Amino acid sequence: MIKHCYIHIPFCKTICSYCDFCKQFYDSQKVKEYLKNLREEIERDYQGEEMDTIYIGGGTPTCLSLEELKELMDILSLIHKSHNTEITIEGNVETISKEKLVLFKQYGINRISLGIESINENHLRFLERNHTKEQIQKTIQMIRKEGFHNLNLDLIYAIPGETIEEVQEDLDFLLSLQPEHISTYSLMIEDHTKLKIQGVKPIAEETDEEMYSLITSYLKEKGYIHYEISNFSKKGYESKHNIGYWKNEEYYGFGCGASSYKDSIRKTNTRSLTNYPKGNLLEREEVTESDKIEYEILLNLRLLEGISLSDFEEKYQMPLKDLYNYQQLVEQGLLIEEENHLRVPEEKIYVSNEIIVKLLQSKKEI
Ligand code: SF4
Repeated sequence: MIKHCYIHIPFCKTICSYCDFCKQFYDSQKVKEYLKNLREEIERDYQGEEMDTIYIGGGTPTCLSLEELKELMDILSLIHKSHNTEITIEGNVETISKEKLVLFKQYGINRISLGIESINENHLRFLERNHTKEQIQKTIQMIRKEGFHNLNLDLIYAIPGETIEEVQEDLDFLLSLQPEHISTYSLMIEDHTKLKIQGVKPIAEETDEEMYSLITSYLKEKGYIHYEISNFSKKGYESKHNIGYWKNEEYYGFGCGASSYKDSIRKTNTRSLTNYPKGNLLEREEVTESDKIEYEILLNLRLLEGISLSDFEEKYQMPLKDLYNYQQLVEQGLLIEEENHLRVPEEKIYVSNEIIVKLLQSKKEI
C-alpha cells in the first residue's frame, strides 16, 4: 500500500546557475493553470490511501502568493493524512512570510526545508542565490516563532574556488541555526545548466572528498546522526519521506516532472508545462522482480544502517546471500554483515557506488 506522496511545484522567482530541476520562472497566470491541472491529476490518480509522508517540492513552492498557496493547500486536502503524517514544504528564505507560515500550520505542514546552500557572498553570487545571512536568521526566527520544530537546511559544497575553511564557516553558520536536519550536496555541473554552458569545471575529486570528510566528522561531533550518504539529523528527525525512497517503497508523484513508483511501474511526468495536462510522460519503466531487487540493494545501501536481511528475505522469499555472492566483499572489508544488516562501512561510504556495483556484479546464476 502506498504511504508516500510527492507534489511538484515548478515555479521559481529566480533561476540558479546550477539548477537542472524541473522549474520555470514564476508567472501568476501559469500558476493558476498549473494548480488546476495538478488538482485534476490528483483527483484522477490518487486512490484514497492514508499517507505517512507528503512532500511538496520544487521549484520553490513558497514563491507562490498567499492566495495561490491557499489553493495548493486546498488541493492538499484531497489527500488523506493522519495526525502524525510528515508533511514537508520546500522553500527559500526570500519568499516565506508570517502569513504563509500561519497557513501552512493550519493545513498541517510540520516540516520546512530551506535551500540555504552557502553564506559566502561570492559563492552565493556564483550559484545565483539572492539571500543574505541576516535574511536567513530572520526567516528562521519567524519559522520557529510560528511553531515549526522540524527544519531542514540544504548545504552545497565543492563550489569551484571554495576552500575547506569556507565549508567550515558555512557549517558553523548552519549549526548556529540549530536545524533538526541538514542535507548536503556536492555541486554537480549538470548538462543544460548555465554553469555547464559557461564551461565551468567541477572541483578536484580529492578536494570534494576532503570536504565531505570534514562535513561528516564535524556534524557528527556536533551531535548529528549521519544516517544516509548526504543526510544528517538530530535523533528522531530523519526525513521519513526520503527514507521511504531509500527503502524502495512505492510512492505517488504528482505534478510536472514528478516521478512515481506504483504497481511495479516507475514513471516520470513530462517536464513541459504545456504537455503536462495531456498526461505525457518523460519516461516509464516496468520494474521486473529482478530490477526490484537491484533497486532494493542500490537504495538501501545509501543508508548507513544498510539493508535489513530479514526484511529482504520476507519481501523476496529468498535470502540475499542466495542471490549474491557478497561474502568476498565482506572479507575485503568493503561490506559489513552484522545485526541482521548488510552495510557499507562508514569510512567507505564516499565510495559506496563502486562497492554497490561490485555487489551487483556478484549475482549468482540461478
Ligand atoms: S530555487 Fe531550486 S528549483 Fe529554483 S532554480 Fe534554484 S535550485 Fe532550481
